[in-house]
Amino acid sequence: MSDDFFIPVSGMDLPRFAGVPTFMRLPHVEFDHPRFQDVQVGLIGAPWDSGTTNRPGPRHGPRQVRDASTMIRAQNGITGVRPFEVLNCADLGDVAPNPADITDSLARFTAFYTKVKAAGIKPLTAGGDHLVSLPILRAMAVDAPLGMVHFDSHTDLFHSYFGGQMYTHGTPFRRAIEEELLDPKRVVQIGIRGTAYDTEDRDFAKAVGIRIIPIEECFHRGWADVMAEAREIVGTQPAYVSYDIDFVDPAFAPGTGTPEIGGPNSFQALEVVRALQGLNIVGADMVEVSPPFDTSGATAYLGASVMFELLCVMV
Ligand code: MN
Ligand code: MN
Repeated sequence: MSDDFFIPVSGMDLPRFAGVPTFMRLPHVEFDHPRFQDVQVGLIGAPWDSGTTNRPGPRHGPRQVRDASTMIRAQNGITGVRPFEVLNCADLGDVAPNPADITDSLARFTAFYTKVKAAGIKPLTAGGDHLVSLPILRAMAVDAPLGMVHFDSHTDLFHSYFGGQMYTHGTPFRRAIEEELLDPKRVVQIGIRGTAYDTEDRDFAKAVGIRIIPIEECFHRGWADVMAEAREIVGTQPAYVSYDIDFVDPAFAPGTGTPEIGGPNSFQALEVVRALQGLNIVGADMVEVSPPFDTSGATAYLGASVMFELLCVMV
């Protein structure tokens, strides 16, 4: 273990309930920090939910997930990976949104992630509602369209809401395809379910070649088989991972704005991330944790655990 790594504060040195919470107890390293250039994976808060069409609250997600993430220890219990000793990881703080202006917030997010990408840092983001993925992709996909593994109970591929509102958490990946930030033939959406307004999103997916793996296929074929197909679709070229916590059954993740019943349990929720090992992951996010609906704190803890699994396959 090198002294050069940013090592999280151990619960052996300072009890995990003590201290100022950062993501996974890592150092807080902002752009003007003397060691900013040493960071290789940046954990970032995106406290913003102006894209929410239903029950709000994910603007409070990053703070709650930081607190819950103090439960995370340094070593993966199943794979044995110790991510903080493989790449230099740090908490880069929060992107400052403009809660009164969606367009300005999108620009602020893209500017922040452009700086992150220019520094060679892979971003791992805690949302925020799912619209935050769009400005992140605008910064990350400047060289070429990315592949994407997307865990969600919704496709987030709708054209617009409320008669022409193009920027909501139900539309980010429609915009990302239109803007050629994603290569639709290398996009897979896993766990899709629930009642629907219509088939407009699925028709679009079919037309452009996005593979949707609905929840019944996940359970009937088995998760390992589904994830093998997902890896094949995304291939070895650069890919982004977007994880909406409403992918998980609301029995395990009730603290979210648009829950859908009949989803994976918390073991399966983590197992599918471990199955991404070996992909060329350039960035990832975990979004839609809504603390006002998370009365037990279980959703934030699951979200922090998903982020740790994402980190383990990013390093
Ligand atoms: Mn979503
Ligand atoms: Mn969703």
